Amino acid sequence: MRKKNAIVMFILLLAFALVVSGCGANNATGGNSNKPETEKSEGNQTSGAGNSSAKNQVVNVYTARHYDIDSKLFDAFTKETGIKVNEIKGTAEELVERLKREGEGSEADLFITVDGGVLNYAKENNVLQPIVSDTINSNVPTELRDKENYWVGMATRARVIVYAKDRVKPEQLSTYEDLTSDQWKGKLLVRSSSSLYNQSLLASFIELNGEQKAEEWAKGVVTNLSRDPDGGDRDQAKAIVAGVGDVAIMNTYYVGQMLVSKDAEEVKVAENIGVFFPNQDTTGTHINISGIGLAAHSKNKENALKLIEFMTSAEGQTMLTNGSFEFPVNAAAEKPELLQQWGQFKTQQIDFASLGQHNKKATELMNKAGWK
Ligand code: FE
Repeated sequence: MRKKNAIVMFILLLAFALVVSGCGANNATGGNSNKPETEKSEGNQTSGAGNSSAKNQVVNVYTARHYDIDSKLFDAFTKETGIKVNEIKGTAEELVERLKREGEGSEADLFITVDGGVLNYAKENNVLQPIVSDTINSNVPTELRDKENYWVGMATRARVIVYAKDRVKPEQLSTYEDLTSDQWKGKLLVRSSSSLYNQSLLASFIELNGEQKAEEWAKGVVTNLSRDPDGGDRDQAKAIVAGVGDVAIMNTYYVGQMLVSKDAEEVKVAENIGVFFPNQDTTGTHINISGIGLAAHSKNKENALKLIEFMTSAEGQTMLTNGSFEFPVNAAAEKPELLQQWGQFKTQQIDFASLGQHNKKATELMNKAGWK
């Protein structure tokens, strides 16, 4: 009897032990306890393959652009791919110098800047390498890429004439050249000659019309100025609304950015100026480009290409143009209302590299003309 009890007791204990271990086993397979184990082993594999795999989840971007939308684009890319984007900011010159100095040891994967001349300067200084990607080639039309794909465009902007809606009729406007005519004497506003935007504008005239015409134009601008150059592009628009002048030269995207600005004064200014695309019957409106180059010694090339693909995709370009009001390079992008209103316009047909080639001459001519 006692023996029988002992056997029953033993069976009960065994059953209990099985149940407990069974639960344990269930926990181990489907519960939390096994999961970290799996993650840990995966993690070990990753780091076991060298830090390269973890390191590959990074793109280091040397950028000379100063627009908030770029960081937002990088964040969206990280969200989609898990690849972190490190932004290293500086002026284009500083960054090209840094790339040269760092040479093969450079951590840079991408170089981003405004201005075709500057992009070409980076190419000529051997800090870039060709971008090979069918996706990028189909995202960005040929004319908005370097001939050998050392850089590809990410956005364009036009340098246009803006005018006081209450005092100027668009019919009075026609060309950049006409801004030097008597009708605009004492009424023209433009920022200083130290601005690359103005240097490239004049460089485009040297390319299209020759040095002499470009020089005459610079002199004509100075003659018609309503005040000495002061401030940035937005400040010229503000001066129009303040009645200092009637017409100004400025980049298109600032008009859009001011329209959605948190600053009520900027909104008011943007609402009271009109945008005019000059030279539609002649050489076309001056445009310039922002572009991305692949660093010559990129260590995360695959990820860098993925980022360029994203930035030039319909999705990336829609984000970009709605954030900065620049023109997209990818026709599949959905443009903001304002840009749709502006519609299509004729653009200058020149090699963007020529903006850099004539930069020194342009600066010289502006100095000679007394353009401060
Ligand atoms: Fe700007």
